[in-house]
Amino acid sequence: MTKVVYNAPNAAGHFGAFGGKFIPETLIKNAADLEREYLKAKEDPEFHASLDLLLRDYVGRATPLYRAARLSEKLGGASIWLKREDLCHTGAHKINNALGQVLLAKRMGKKRIIAETGAGQHGVATATVCALFDLECIVYMGEEDIRRQAPNVARMKLLGATVQPVSSGTRTLKDATSEAIRDWMNNPEETFYIVGSVIGMHPYPMMVRDFQSVIGKETRRQSMEQIGRLPEVVVACVGGGSNAMGMFYDFIPDSNEVELIGVEAAGEGLEGKHAASLSRGELGVLHGAMMKLLQDEYGQVQEAHSISAGLDYPGVGPEHCYLQRKGIATYTSATDREAIEALDMLAKTEGIICALESAHAMHYAITRAPMMPRETNIVVSLSGRGDKDMGTIMQELKLL
Ligand SMILES: *Cc1c(COP(=O)(O)O)cnc(C)c1O
Repeated sequence: MTKVVYNAPNAAGHFGAFGGKFIPETLIKNAADLEREYLKAKEDPEFHASLDLLLRDYVGRATPLYRAARLSEKLGGASIWLKREDLCHTGAHKINNALGQVLLAKRMGKKRIIAETGAGQHGVATATVCALFDLECIVYMGEEDIRRQAPNVARMKLLGATVQPVSSGTRTLKDATSEAIRDWMNNPEETFYIVGSVIGMHPYPMMVRDFQSVIGKETRRQSMEQIGRLPEVVVACVGGGSNAMGMFYDFIPDSNEVELIGVEAAGEGLEGKHAASLSRGELGVLHGAMMKLLQDEYGQVQEAHSISAGLDYPGVGPEHCYLQRKGIATYTSATDREAIEALDMLAKTEGIICALESAHAMHYAITRAPMMPRETNIVVSLSGRGDKDMGTIMQELKLL
């Protein structure tokens, strides 16, 4: 079949109508310096050699592509394969990106690292790489999230990071991100801002995608080795969209034959409280980029809801908006309840407790597999492990 030709973003950081650099004058130099240094690093074999070594020996890559035989047998259709990002050091894919950016920070001679975090997974990944490279680390986190995610707050502190509580707005991820951007604006010289997903102003969506694309590169190679061809369907959950973008990117040229499916959080249902920006959002600007955004009739950003803190963001990466508009990827959603049920089924059939975020992608695979012939294959990006979610899981499944 014909290959899909894809070349985004353009030099200005636009993915069609999405993305860009909607930032105040005082941030323009920061963003431009970062972009220049990143483009240089990208062409530098030494940079890639250091990163690849750490991904192998510190993160534990390549992560396995595992055939969930019992689950597939039970469902009686396509084989379900799990890309095991849950086996990465720190328990999720976030470390792939944090390592890439910290190496870039070192190259640029930055001594102070800042980050935003919601559930605390990106905060933990950032605190981890800062401990490894002996860098000062300040993580902005909403007060509401600090309350909900106490174990991750403790982890960050144990790793030597300062957790900076944010009390503005809804006191969640959106406000933590705004606060981190403000910090970067006020401390441009010594500070490097490690963004945790394919969001924010150019070059972040492109750079984070590139760092996460190791997921799809490995999956493609492993599919050829283990299945003998590419899978029919590739599915990933979408919060900001970094594990999905990382999984999809190397499959885009083959997207005429490989279906790319992103699953957003439908929360309590698309008519109630949810986080489905691609399904229900309108064009708007958040954190420096044009995207599809949950907003009220006055254009004010609406609060998102999902049972999984990692999907609880009112916006979404601009590249996903572009892939949706071009028809290269398709986006659907799963409710809180559907995610919990998928997580339960995976635990009982395969002995794998996945993150609540990843369970949204699992739900799609579990519903789709029985509708496909036995000789076909679905790959799921299992973005993280469920340890961090045990509190919620215990409540929802009444395990106590
Ligand atoms: C943060 C997180 C997500 C959501 O972020 P994306 O940028 O959309 O990948 C998904 N799964 C896990 C396990 C996470 O920690």
